[in-house]
Amino acid sequence: MNNWNLKDQKVILRVDFNVPIKNGVIQDDTRIVKSLPTIQLLIQKGARIIIMSHLGRPLKELLPDGSIDKQKFSLKPIAEKLATLLSLPVDFATDCAGPDTFAKISELQSGHLLLLENTRFYKQEEKGDTAWAQLLSTMGDYFINDAFGAAHREHCSTATIARYFDRDHKDFGLLMKAEVENGDKVLKNPHRPLTAIIGGAKVSDKIELISNLIDLCDTILIGGGMAFTFYKASGISIGKSLCEPDKTDLALQLIEKAKQKNKKLILPLDSVIAKEFKNDTAFETTLGPAVKEDYMGLDIGPRTIALYADQIQKSATIIWNGPMGVFEMEQFSNGTKQIALAVAAATQNGSYSLIGGGDSVAAINKYHLENQVSFVSTGGGAMLEMLEGKKLPGIEAILS
Ligand code: AMP
Repeated sequence: MNNWNLKDQKVILRVDFNVPIKNGVIQDDTRIVKSLPTIQLLIQKGARIIIMSHLGRPLKELLPDGSIDKQKFSLKPIAEKLATLLSLPVDFATDCAGPDTFAKISELQSGHLLLLENTRFYKQEEKGDTAWAQLLSTMGDYFINDAFGAAHREHCSTATIARYFDRDHKDFGLLMKAEVENGDKVLKNPHRPLTAIIGGAKVSDKIELISNLIDLCDTILIGGGMAFTFYKASGISIGKSLCEPDKTDLALQLIEKAKQKNKKLILPLDSVIAKEFKNDTAFETTLGPAVKEDYMGLDIGPRTIALYADQIQKSATIIWNGPMGVFEMEQFSNGTKQIALAVAAATQNGSYSLIGGGDSVAAINKYHLENQVSFVSTGGGAMLEMLEGKKLPGIEAILS
C-alpha cells in the first residue's frame, strides 16, 4: 500500500471502530485513534476513502418488536468523533453498500472520507455471504484491512470481500501490518529462550493457547486463577480457590505434554490468599503451593514473583497473556504489577516483549508501561487465536 498511487482512487478501508458507546457518547476512543495513521496516509495519497466497520452485536440485541436498534448501534457518533480527531469533515452514509452509500461515493472527492453505517445491520455480514461481499467490493478500486480486532472473523467485510481484489489491489493497513509483523516475531523463528507468561481466570479459555505455546516456547510461567486447576490436578489442596474440576485431566495432559517435549511448565510456588473475594479483607501469604481450607488464592506470592522475574530476565523473547491475580483489587495486584515491571525491565535490556489479549493489556496500561514493552496488541480475541497457532481469515484473505 505504501508505494501505491491512490490519487482519486476509491479505497475501501475496513477498520475496527467497535468502541464502547453509551447514549451516543463514545466512552473510549482508543480504537479510533489507532486507525488514524492509515487514514492519514490515505488522505495524503489523495484517495477517496470509504470506511466501514461493525459496532456491537445489533442482530443479537434486537428491540422487543424484533427490529434492529438503529440508534444504539449506529456509527454516526463515530463519524463525528473521527471528524474531530482529524479536524476534517467526515461524511456519513445511513446504509452500507445501499443507495445512500453509492450516491455519496459518486460525490466523494479525492482526500475526503465517507463512513458507512454498521456492517452488522445486514444479516449477510456474519455469514460471509458471497453475493453481499461482492456488492461491497463494487464500492471501490482497492481494499485495505486495518481491523485486526476482527481478523479472526470470517465475515463479508473482514474476509470474503478480499476475494474480489487481486493482491495488487488489497493490503493490510498500518495497524494490521504491525500486528502481523509482531505476531510473526514470536511465532516464526523467535529469539530464544522464549518464555510465555499465561494468567487469567480459566484454564478452559486457554487450553489451546497453552498447548500451542508448549510447542513454541522454552518456558511457560502459569499464574492467575487457572494455576489452581493445575494444582488440583497434581493433588495439591487449593481451598476455595477458583477451579474447574472437569478440566483437571486436561491440565494433567498439558503437564505431561510439557514433560515429553522437555519444556518447562512452571506453576506458582506461593500465593496471596484470603477468605473472601474482596479488596479490604484480611490476607496472608502461603509458604508453599497449598492453600488452606476456607481460603482462596488471589495473587501469586513473593517467591513466585522472584522466580518468574528471574526467568523473564533470562528470556530473549517474552509473550504475556493474562494477569497473575485479581489485579483489579489493589491488595491482589502486586503479582501482576511486578511481572509487568519485570517484562518492561527485560525489554529495556534488549529482550523482545509482546503483550497480547484482554486483561494483560489493561494491566500494562494500568501501570503506564505501554511504552516500555515492545508491542501491545490491540486485538484481544484475534491475538489469542494467532498465538493459538490458528490462521486468521482476515489475514489469509489479504495474503491469498
Ligand atoms: P482472562 O480474561 O482469562 O485473562 O482473566 C482475567 C481475569 O482473571 C481478571 O478479571 C482477574 O481478576 C481474574 N483472576 C486472575 N487471578 C485470579 C484468581 N487467582 N482468582 C480469581 N480470579 C482471578
